[in-house]
Amino acid sequence: MLSATLPSLNAGFVLPGDPSWDHARSAFNLTLDQHPAAVALPADARDVAAAVAYARAAGLRVAPQGAAHNQGPLGNLEGTLLLNTSALQEVNVDPAARRVRVGAGVKWERVLGRLNAYGLAALHGSSPDVGVAGYSLGGGIGWLSRKFGLQSNAVTALELVTADGTLIRTDAEHDPDLFWALRGGGGSFGVVTAIEFEVQPLDRLYAGAMFFELDRAGDMLHTWHELLPEFPEELMSWASVIHFPPAPFVPEFARGRSLAIIMAAHLGAEAEGRDLLAPLRALGPVRDTFAMVPPIVLSDLAMDPLDPLPFRLTSALVDTLPVDELMTTIETAGPALTVAQFRHMGGAIARETPGAGARATLPGEICAMGLGVVMDEDGDAAVRGALAEFDAHLRPHRAGDYANFVEVPVDASAFFTPDVWTRLRAVKATYDPTDLFKGNHHVPPA
Ligand SMILES: Cc1cc2nc3c(=O)[nH]c(=O)nc-3n(C[C@H](O)[C@H](O)[C@H](O)COP(=O)(O)OP(=O)(O)OC[C@H]3O[C@@H](n4cnc5c(N)ncnc54)[C@H](O)[C@@H]3O)c2cc1C
Repeated sequence: MLSATLPSLNAGFVLPGDPSWDHARSAFNLTLDQHPAAVALPADARDVAAAVAYARAAGLRVAPQGAAHNQGPLGNLEGTLLLNTSALQEVNVDPAARRVRVGAGVKWERVLGRLNAYGLAALHGSSPDVGVAGYSLGGGIGWLSRKFGLQSNAVTALELVTADGTLIRTDAEHDPDLFWALRGGGGSFGVVTAIEFEVQPLDRLYAGAMFFELDRAGDMLHTWHELLPEFPEELMSWASVIHFPPAPFVPEFARGRSLAIIMAAHLGAEAEGRDLLAPLRALGPVRDTFAMVPPIVLSDLAMDPLDPLPFRLTSALVDTLPVDELMTTIETAGPALTVAQFRHMGGAIARETPGAGARATLPGEICAMGLGVVMDEDGDAAVRGALAEFDAHLRPHRAGDYANFVEVPVDASAFFTPDVWTRLRAVKATYDPTDLFKGNHHVPPA
């Protein structure tokens, strides 16, 4: 039962029993069944401050939620106000300064077309449906990351409502410790209302996908894996095996098919890109979409689902891939392992730059991710089994974990070195000593 008087937010509060309750409390992953005390839908930063003040007075905690792609780690939301930022939709691009400012509810899809028109590109990831805020607060590995690093470190300023209900702007000069913590430390420090970040000049690049029949998956993975040490930072490549549903978001020729795929983005000339990928092309793709393209092509190159779906996910940052073992699981699991994806890491992702945030770098040569779509109870058992096996093959080669790809509640200290974790907890104690804010991968106060 909510005790304090509800403030009159423009876009309102949604309470259990309200007609829109189930929609308001939902997340992208439909296996989640979130039961917060209430959901706030603030229309602007002032509303956010009012909602935070209300929660404090009512003895509730506050969990910020953007596009809801990583809500699994939040766990139990009893006694918690879910603060949904989806109405904060400002998008401003300053092409001369190569700076973008977006409201906390903005998804990448609203930014990328505008940048493309100016010959600019952001360090976004595989899905245009993901929220800029959640992605940037947790790290952000995308197509340009081997060259330009993690999105967290492209962030130049953040505006947020802190635990005492004030709206502040933080950057390298203002509340620098908080600015450091937010860039990788996630949603434990306040409710971000706006985020500003740097983007890169990029007119055209050599990018696309090569699709192979499923029986070529082993050869494709071996060849890709062997090529990685030769690939320059200008080339980002992902190797995947995907069982596509017959859904509209899937390119027509791939609908309902199981395919092995190399996707890549090369910041350079076509001839150079072709040379780098030649050993993979020699394996005989059944379709090859590589061409010189504008950066907007990267927004949906990965063919990620755009609508919520029920899934389980596992991931690991590894130094090397046990390809033969993984292929055994890929072959036996079939569609229970709906997506097995391996992303090349290293380059600027592994190099700390001056002024970087709490997520300065990520370890590992490869980011491995296994995802299973859960259709029913039997299917769930098969998905869990496949992901457990996938995980077991990777464990001996593990270099670390990437928080944004961890979909279950875990001890967040595992994502950081002891020094970074200690500093994050100290910042939390300064800005939120009573632990009002519940982040997805939570940082408790020191
Ligand atoms: C289909 C799919 C594709 C993906 N592809 C990539 C990829 O290519 N690269 C990559 O790095 N990641 C990727 N991710 C992971 C993604 O980066 C994380 O799920 C990210 O947290 C999503 O942010 P969100 O706003 O969409 O989700 P949310 O679940 O809304 O946000 C996640 C957490 O961020 C914090 N947060 C969000 N908004 C705020 C705010 N305004 N103030 C304070 N805290 C806030 C909260 O703690 C929240 O629980 C992908 C995820 C999915 C589902």
